[in-house]
Amino acid sequence: MDFAVDPADARFRDDLRALLDGTLPDWWRGMFVDDPRAIPFTREFCRALAAREWLTLAWPAEHGGAGASAWTQAVLREEMWAAEEPRGPQYMNLNYIGPLLMRYGTPTQRARFLPPMARGEVIWCQGFSEPDAGSDLASLRTRARLVEDHFLVDGTKIWTSYADAPADWCLLLARSELAADRHDGISVFLVDMTTPGISVRPIDTMAGPHEFNEVTFESVAVPRDCLLGEAGRGWELVAAGLTFERVGIARYARAARVLEHLVTHANESGQSRDPRVRARLAELRASCEAARLLAYRAVSLQARGVVPTVEASIARIHATRLEQEVGHAGLELLGPLGLLRSGDPVAPLAGEVQRHFVRNIPTTVAAGTLEIQKNIVARRGLGLPRET
Ligand SMILES: Cc1cc2nc3c(=O)[nH]c(=O)nc-3n(C[C@H](O)[C@H](O)[C@H](O)COP(=O)(O)OP(=O)(O)OC[C@H]3O[C@@H](n4cnc5c(N)ncnc54)[C@H](O)[C@@H]3O)c2cc1C
Repeated sequence: MDFAVDPADARFRDDLRALLDGTLPDWWRGMFVDDPRAIPFTREFCRALAAREWLTLAWPAEHGGAGASAWTQAVLREEMWAAEEPRGPQYMNLNYIGPLLMRYGTPTQRARFLPPMARGEVIWCQGFSEPDAGSDLASLRTRARLVEDHFLVDGTKIWTSYADAPADWCLLLARSELAADRHDGISVFLVDMTTPGISVRPIDTMAGPHEFNEVTFESVAVPRDCLLGEAGRGWELVAAGLTFERVGIARYARAARVLEHLVTHANESGQSRDPRVRARLAELRASCEAARLLAYRAVSLQARGVVPTVEASIARIHATRLEQEVGHAGLELLGPLGLLRSGDPVAPLAGEVQRHFVRNIPTTVAAGTLEIQKNIVARRGLGLPRET
């Protein structure tokens, strides 16, 4: 493995930073804040990236991409997440919904769905989890029954991020056939969120708006040509998609950015002379570096066309914990003032620590909990048997 930075990627990083400096408004605090400007801004920002052909860098040219390496794409992910992800929900299109369509979509589906993603015009959400099917996704109950030329979908999805953005499309998982093995019989559908019978109920939590929704489907007619891949073989798509998703977010880059701000604060406040503060900040710096290298290991496999299942889980375990540790350290450093939100004029670091801390409470649950990641490492990485 060679993690030496390509000079062209280093220039690209500088160009991206210049774009971010010139484009991000002063009020930008990410998309999970109570600010009606946030989601429309993410759409505008994606169109600006698309105009520079930076939105779909790693996509092949035939799908509207620039065919750039997985490493260049990693630079993009790092800069985006460090800046609180100004692409908003669309990072999911680029990181894994688009690639799933490329791998499993028909030519007609690819021609229909990929160009709007490449132009930055469309928000997708992911309808996988259900009230009784999260870690154990194969127990999902949403049904899709084939009736002539369409499937009729009934069921409830939960924790569906960005459904209220509003999302234009949903990558939906539903049971289309009853099979002996419950991993069989599941299918993936591309569902237009304006179809009659779909209702979206935002769920309020401390994580902020757009993060969680409940989506119900009542006799929702999904055209047969919106089935992705083979009917009943959706489990294979889910496995591939979740692996892309786990590598997809450069969490260590955000943690490193918040840490930089904490270091500045510690210097300005004089706390940086305290040996305990110095040790804590230095430990976090070491953890950021370890998280970055673990992510790079997964990227290096992706660059060779290998699906990095165990490596992606290891990287994710480390990066999600790191994000939480940086939030904890930030609150300790700032004391009670660190709890003030961004709108408060006396909030230190413009409320960044409060936001980072709260945002990352659910981080170890999203896209497969820490325990599930550890199960993957135990079984596939260490060859341990299933638990009894
Ligand atoms: C921020 C965030 C965004 C999300 N966005 C989406 C989205 O857009 N679309 C979507 O479909 N879902 C989304 N989810 C849902 C997420 O995928 C589920 O929350 C997750 O898979 C866990 O499922 P659950 O909540 O049902 O918990 P459960 O599966 O019920 O788990 C409860 C607890 O039991 C533990 N546990 C479960 N099984 C095992 C096991 N075999 N071994 C050891 N421990 C186990 C878990 O680790 C957890 O601590 C999101 C979640 C979060 C937090």
